Amino acid sequence: MIAEVIVDVSAYPIDRPFDYAVPAHLETVIERGSRVKVPFGPRKVIGYVTGLKSESEIEEHKLKKIDELIDLDPVLSPELMDLAKKMARETLSYEIDALQVMLPAAMRAKYEKFISVEKLEEIDDARVLAALNGRTRIPLKQITDPDVLKLIKDYSERGIVSVDTAISQQTKVKKVRTVHIGNSDTLAELLLTVHPNAKKQAELIRWMLDHAGETIEAAKLLNESGIQNPVLKAVIEKGGATEAYVETYREPDAPKLLDTPIPIRLTEEQQTALDKVKVAADSGKAETFLLHGITGSGKTEVYLQAIKHVLDKGKEAIVLVPEISLTPQMTARFQERFGGLVAVMHSGLSAGEKYDEWRKIHRREVRVVVGARSAIFAPFENVGIIILDEEHESTYKQEDTPRYHARDVAIWRSEHYGCPVILGSATPSLESYARASKGVYTLLELSKRAKNQPLPSVTVVDMRDELKEGNRSMFSVQLAEAIRLRLEKKEQTVLFLNKRGFSSFVLCRDCGTVVQCPNCDISLTYHRSNESLKCHYCGHEEPVPLVCPECESEHIRFFGTGTQKAEEEISKLFPEARVLRMDVDTTRQKGAHERILRQFSEGKADILLGTQMIAKGLDFPNITLVGVLAADTTLHLADFRAAEKTFQLMTQVSGRAGRHDLAGEVFIQTYSPEHYAIELAKTQHYQTFYNLEMAARKQYGYPPFYFITLVQFSHEDLLKVADFAEKGTRYLKNSLSPETVIIGPAAAAISRVNNRYRYQCLIKYKKEPKLIETLQQLIRMYRTNWMKDGLLMAVDMDPTSIF
Ligand code: ADP
Ligand code: ZN
Ligand code: ZN
Repeated sequence: MIAEVIVDVSAYPIDRPFDYAVPAHLETVIERGSRVKVPFGPRKVIGYVTGLKSESEIEEHKLKKIDELIDLDPVLSPELMDLAKKMARETLSYEIDALQVMLPAAMRAKYEKFISVEKLEEIDDARVLAALNGRTRIPLKQITDPDVLKLIKDYSERGIVSVDTAISQQTKVKKVRTVHIGNSDTLAELLLTVHPNAKKQAELIRWMLDHAGETIEAAKLLNESGIQNPVLKAVIEKGGATEAYVETYREPDAPKLLDTPIPIRLTEEQQTALDKVKVAADSGKAETFLLHGITGSGKTEVYLQAIKHVLDKGKEAIVLVPEISLTPQMTARFQERFGGLVAVMHSGLSAGEKYDEWRKIHRREVRVVVGARSAIFAPFENVGIIILDEEHESTYKQEDTPRYHARDVAIWRSEHYGCPVILGSATPSLESYARASKGVYTLLELSKRAKNQPLPSVTVVDMRDELKEGNRSMFSVQLAEAIRLRLEKKEQTVLFLNKRGFSSFVLCRDCGTVVQCPNCDISLTYHRSNESLKCHYCGHEEPVPLVCPECESEHIRFFGTGTQKAEEEISKLFPEARVLRMDVDTTRQKGAHERILRQFSEGKADILLGTQMIAKGLDFPNITLVGVLAADTTLHLADFRAAEKTFQLMTQVSGRAGRHDLAGEVFIQTYSPEHYAIELAKTQHYQTFYNLEMAARKQYGYPPFYFITLVQFSHEDLLKVADFAEKGTRYLKNSLSPETVIIGPAAAAISRVNNRYRYQCLIKYKKEPKLIETLQQLIRMYRTNWMKDGLLMAVDMDPTSIF
């Protein structure tokens, strides 16, 4: 028997299966999707069996043998194996990367280099002997002295020592030590034989007599009996008890409560939506629904009942939510309904906890998974429904290879299982809504709030007027007044200051003008180094104007504000207010995010000030005011999706206020009050926004009218990166169809990261049959020739942002 194996080496040209002989004793157990340990060159590596066959083109005596089968059960089903292949192709990544991304990180192998001494007698250097310290095999990383390393290298060349790589699995199955206490006869007999000085042993045996025949966790036994472990060991040795190690799960959450949910009567709109999903679920055909429902319209209730329907038919459900809204509040709703059938996967879990949740799914101990992006690969084999809540969120796209979008993966998997996908959002992505309008997806609408609460009242504040009135603070008079009122009434305020991405722009404080690229309808990016404005789509460059091109005001300058500065201003304006700040700086520690939210929900602060982190998931009854300090930071992102992102964000932020009994009020401060994304956020008219934005996208040729692919280059040397970018772009221009538009190369908006200069080029196309093939060839050129020169190149088939 021959196995085809994809090995754990992400390098060209290894991205293909290699043949290995299967040892006779493994023939009956090895399967497609099994992990194996195989020799690869001088090393041992982990690999995935992608196929089994009886013949190989390689001569038998040259065929290497599989060393070891790692798992008795294959870790990946045939469906996921096929999916990996497809994903690798569609995202232009290595198949090994596609396979690994489907498994919890804890299952990825760790490779460690070891030095083995072959001929100890020939080692003559005292420093090397000291480093070995009597051992004949040590991890290479223990040697830090460069001189000693050099000597080791010499020895290795002379065959005195050898260096090899060993594989270690990062996380193991957690086991708990349990003690089974003997029967009372045995114990009574034992008590008579213990030495009179062994008082503690006698004490333990007496304690055990009261628990004869029981099985108890060792830690608990020691704790309750007040005895030390060596004493327990002695008693076990004498036959008073036996011990065992039992497999267990790390429990990340509090015990799950299973209470009978109060049956909710669905609204008419909810019922219509649910019925359509049920019909699809029963039909056995894949169908994608776009559930467009305003905030609070009861989308989650529709998900819950649809899941119930498929569970009753013996199937499984995958629910994706954006990482940041994967709050305890959210997961509790699923656990209340489905109890212990739910596994939760989010980045707050340790590697071991994630591994345990994965094992519960793999063993079918749960039937629903609620998780962030990577939960889309849940190893279920009878999927009945897949749900993506807040489907417009960019976190569903992985920014590293494999650059997959969870929405695409969801649809691929649904086609395999013939099951429905629900994409839910109050502000769907333009792509999804366009597909729904064309009938590719089935549109389901929830236009009213489930509990009939009114939407909060939204006021747009023109910051240009504030400046004219002489107010130079970050707070308009109106917003400051509203905050003061909340402080008096002991109600809570959320202040939102978006600092998304890194792009910065130049804005006229008198008229709100932001200088745009004449070719691309994109804000120009400010470059401090030479006081210039650049378009990183097409490369257009111009000097920073001294006066506003529209109104000739001199108040035109770099725009940027941070949360720290805002916090200082708040404490000046409202010295009595208790403020919590939530941004990347204050949430670096594990659990900090939850802690801040808990403090706020417990009323320990009056004001929560934060970045986009606070836009979602906040659902506290006492929040009655939401302030957006500067809507302009998103509106003028150097990104063709700037307006869409602004509209989504404003809608979401507004949804934080007045979700319960107290009415909510929202203030949006901006220098561009007349922009349609701001204007329409006031009324939350998605349809109108969609129409206007689609017209703009059509005019400038952006998605969803065109597809785009981004190719990024980076190098430590500015001249080199420019040269490679030029070469790459030229190759694309020569190979692709004339209708395809290739923009650039141009410096990226963030032109330098980690001392590497960044360039990029953008491919826009409607139909480009040669695209994948051409990009594969470009990647081949990069991997075989350019990489050696220190170039890094990345291809993103459907970028979410273009920084
Ligand atoms: P969304 O997910 O669309 O923001 P939710 O599902 O969170 O909305 O619903 C908002 C609130 O309305 C929740 O408190 C939910 O329990 C409640 N709710 C949902 N559907 C109904 C219904 N049919 N009748 C009464 N309350 C409902
Ligand atoms: Zn101006
Ligand atoms: Zn441009």
